[in-house]
Amino acid sequence: MERRRLIISGVAQGVGFRPFLYNLARKRRLTGWVRNNSAGVEVEVQGDAGNLAGFLNEVETQAPPAARIESVVSATIPVLQNEAGFKITPSEDGGVPGSPLPDQGICADCISEFYDPEDRRYRYPFNSCVRCGPRFTLIKETPFDRVRTAMAEYQLCQRCRAEYTDFSNRRFHAQTIACPQCGPALWLADPEGVKTPEPPDEGARRILKAGGILGVKGIGGYHLAVDASSESAVLKLREAKGRDRRAFAGLFRDLEALKAHCRVDAAEERLLLDPARPIVLLTQKEASNLAKAVNPGLKEVGAFLPYTGIQLLLFDQDLTALVMTSGNRSGEPLTVDDAAAIEILGPMVDGFLVHDRQVIWRCDDSVVRVQKGKTIGIRRSRGYVPAPLKMDRDLVPLLACGAQQKNTFALTKERYVYLSPHQGDLDRVAAYLSYRETIPRWQRLLRCNPEYAVHDLHPDYNSTLYARSSGLPLLGVQHHLAHLGSVIADRRIKGPVIGVILDGSGYGTDAKIWGGEFFAGAECNWERKGHLRYYPLPGGEAAIKEPWRMAAAYLEAVAPEFLAEWLAGNGLADQWPPLRQAIRHGINAPETSSMGRLFDAAAALAGNILEVSYEGEAAVWFEHQADLNHSGEYCFEVSDVGGKLLIDPGMIMEQTCRDLRRLSTGAISAKFHRTIAALIVRVCDLIRSEVGTDQVVLAGGVFQNRLLLDLAWERLERKGFRVFIPEVAPVNDGGIALGQAWLGSMMIERGITDVFGGAG
Ligand SMILES: [Zn+2]
Ligand SMILES: [Zn+2]
Repeated sequence: MERRRLIISGVAQGVGFRPFLYNLARKRRLTGWVRNNSAGVEVEVQGDAGNLAGFLNEVETQAPPAARIESVVSATIPVLQNEAGFKITPSEDGGVPGSPLPDQGICADCISEFYDPEDRRYRYPFNSCVRCGPRFTLIKETPFDRVRTAMAEYQLCQRCRAEYTDFSNRRFHAQTIACPQCGPALWLADPEGVKTPEPPDEGARRILKAGGILGVKGIGGYHLAVDASSESAVLKLREAKGRDRRAFAGLFRDLEALKAHCRVDAAEERLLLDPARPIVLLTQKEASNLAKAVNPGLKEVGAFLPYTGIQLLLFDQDLTALVMTSGNRSGEPLTVDDAAAIEILGPMVDGFLVHDRQVIWRCDDSVVRVQKGKTIGIRRSRGYVPAPLKMDRDLVPLLACGAQQKNTFALTKERYVYLSPHQGDLDRVAAYLSYRETIPRWQRLLRCNPEYAVHDLHPDYNSTLYARSSGLPLLGVQHHLAHLGSVIADRRIKGPVIGVILDGSGYGTDAKIWGGEFFAGAECNWERKGHLRYYPLPGGEAAIKEPWRMAAAYLEAVAPEFLAEWLAGNGLADQWPPLRQAIRHGINAPETSSMGRLFDAAAALAGNILEVSYEGEAAVWFEHQADLNHSGEYCFEVSDVGGKLLIDPGMIMEQTCRDLRRLSTGAISAKFHRTIAALIVRVCDLIRSEVGTDQVVLAGGVFQNRLLLDLAWERLERKGFRVFIPEVAPVNDGGIALGQAWLGSMMIERGITDVFGGAG
């Protein structure tokens, strides 16, 4: 007879880990108990040595995959007399419990029940088990027990209670257990929110099939849904939301239905079926009959699979693809509250599919893509948060406030960084208000007590404003170094690296707008090795929505005659002179080294794109035009100016205009993309010969460009570089908070406020 005490750390809660241990112990005839505690899960087991050894082995080899065990520490302790059975005991109070689990998409067993007419949970929209169902979006406080969730108000019926207490049942200790008798209820409502007698699933499909817009209350907030094959329905949705030309995502009935529209490789299929059920950006098949308005002009479509029974109810034999987009006015936070839904979404919809369970945490769908077999984060939210990112050492307790666009913020505790759900663009008042309200709640949920606020250097970001109002000691971290830091933290890179950060815009230490940056260094010691030569951004922010302005700024310097002709041809002859005047007088024309703006300009020129509806639209269009059958690339020069490598984008633009008369847009796009890839490799090569490292980080919003990333990655590897891209953290500004946390913590510890040593 022996007794062992185990501390199993890193275990996520709400994944059925305690019931799993309970079953193992019963099987091995061991006595003892298990409970959640500050480290994760604490267990004491007692029995004969052989059974104990078997138990220990199975804990590590058979644990539910979502449990993500980090370590098991075991010690022999004195044997207890007269212990009967194995118990799951209440969580230890006071301590800091393991992290709450992210929402888990409905599992295969629960889907089978959902489609089984004999099952008592046949077509039950809230079907879940110990392995699946909402977790984060309904938790009020940790640890994850039903009483502290939005399920608390639903009293278990007798049959559910029996399942909950039966250790052989797959709903043993399932905190979200429910059934049609005792769980949440679903109904159809009219646009005013008044309940209708029609069966909810039939009514929902009737609205969708008639080309209507359906408001759907989910687990992280409201969605708006329309039939994805109906051109008029998708257009109606765009108009109702005030949505720009940005692509919508498609929710498909099942994998088979999805594959009728999208090409899916093995890695993409794994992601689509992952319990996180992210939206995966996939190549659309030629044969796909999705409405063109879903993803105008693009060859890529964001696709995902149902993660709740509510979503399964929306489909039948004929209806297999829906546009599913966040329920909000474009750019605002997802609607979670029922009254707000009626007010904001009511005027847009033909009906609502609603339920009576409260959404505790607003959580948008996550977006990822796969490239060269690796996952790249685009938006990290539902299914991933609040799982922390583990660093290799303890961090200073801090709040990282994030950037302005695609904001996420982060809190640190011990060696963990808790990245928040996607907060949206903080220049929208509604998004900022939600951000301000979410930070203290996030702090309470995760029991973090920040002692510092780390913020972007941009003085006008609302996240910077929040930091200033927090009352905490402040630290600023440069935007692009935060991008770089996020990849170092995410991929746990050791030693010196070269950072290639290509982005739309970020505030530089010289008060200019950076965005085409090459860094080298390690930890808190960085040098800005090179960048695109500065050009004026005509009219500041306005140039983002009117990419022709940036094209004009470059061409004014390198091809003024061509510019005059091009402007006249596009009816802009009158608009440029006042902007040119302003630039000469330094009025509202900040200097920028942005790569995002260079892409804008090339796209504007190649496609006569004068205005866009969202940042980067012209560049996305340009990427999708590329015709790789055309070879060739443009020349460029890298000059060493006072120890900094400068690349003049004007030279590239000049060659682009010469090609306009003789080459197709597709050929120009291919040449342009190859040029930027070649430029990345050349500059990295120069930096490598000086600093000696072959580790290269690629990050920043521009690398959402699949073609550019492919080309750069391939060419760098061919030259012997080791390429790192972010995996967990978004490659765009959604990853900034992680970099702020990682770099900020180190700077605070070492008392450093300027990582460039005054030479930014
Ligand atoms: Zn399940
Ligand atoms: Zn029940």
